[in-house]
Amino acid sequence: MFNQSILVDQFGRTVDYIRLSITDRCDFRCVYCMSEDMTFLPRDEVLSLEECARLVKIFVNLGVSKVRITGGEPLVRKNALWLFEEVGKLKGLNELVLTTNGSQLEKQAAALKSAGVKRINISIDSLQAERFKKITRTGDLNKVLAGLQASKDAGFDGIKINTVLMRGSNDDEAVDLVQFAIDQKIDISFIEEMPLGEVDHTRESTFVSNADTLKLLQSKYSLLPSTESTGGPARYWRVANSHTKIGFISPHSHNFCESCNRVRITCKGELYLCLGQEDKIDLMPLLREFPHNDAPLVTAILNSMRIKPKGHDFDLRRAQPAVIRFMSHTGG
Ligand code: SAM
Ligand code: SF4
Repeated sequence: MFNQSILVDQFGRTVDYIRLSITDRCDFRCVYCMSEDMTFLPRDEVLSLEECARLVKIFVNLGVSKVRITGGEPLVRKNALWLFEEVGKLKGLNELVLTTNGSQLEKQAAALKSAGVKRINISIDSLQAERFKKITRTGDLNKVLAGLQASKDAGFDGIKINTVLMRGSNDDEAVDLVQFAIDQKIDISFIEEMPLGEVDHTRESTFVSNADTLKLLQSKYSLLPSTESTGGPARYWRVANSHTKIGFISPHSHNFCESCNRVRITCKGELYLCLGQEDKIDLMPLLREFPHNDAPLVTAILNSMRIKPKGHDFDLRRAQPAVIRFMSHTGG
């Protein structure tokens, strides 16, 4: 039995899930996530892996039962495996999960499974090698597919593809990607593009609504609405006669904030209470000022629950991004 989280916000929502970005760096430059000439943080402004482990332990002691490690690309961080092993050992943690672009999985999947990673999300926006390269700017589809195969061989409890569809780019691939997921006996989620950080196109020009994607998929497959939840904002549909469920993460067309159970920690140690708002507290100064005393951090985290906003406020037509920071900084 796991402890009930004692992190409850001003609206009565229990926070039992943290997403921790362990680096802002990445070997890809996906067009919706980064600009071509990204600058990354100097290394001393990024949490050390020991600091990451310390923070996760504090949150788990406060009752957090699910931890997602993300980035940037978490698996390009040197010694990332050490962190997975440390977190995987924590008593009280129910689920350790990972979001990755898959480029390093061929080498690392088995070790991640042994460290205690239960489920893994792999971002794949296209099954066409050239197009994949265009979207990611540097990615090699074959390497990612080899990583997916290694993950299947490692035997994770769940593997899910994450896909961002963009108009005029890969919006004709929804059916191919779903069929691929069915053939591979894995799940897939479609994430609507969010206005996080300034990229090299206007978000409105590429936006594809999940409502339209669902309509298209319903014309090809028999989809059964599912009440299943993985503790995330996705709405799920089961594909009849398959092992696959399809998730739709729709910050624009469906407001998922009422049931929000998560907070995010950036690679700089900023605790963001909402992906789409600026409310945050900085944990790094406390981590560094009190290396052997967790009490100030615990107090700050408990107090942060008072400033968790009711919801986000994305508007694609705005000239400025809703939130200046990139998803790779905050952690998707
Ligand atoms: N590098 C890893 C990856 O790509 O899976 C983990 C970090 S990435 C920021 C996490 C997820 O965020 C990916 O599935 C990616 O497609 C998604 N993402 C990044 N920028 C986004 C944006 N502006 N809108 C919607 N999803 C975005
Ligand atoms: Fe890197 Fe992931 Fe952002 Fe793509 S979505 S640039 S893989 S962090």
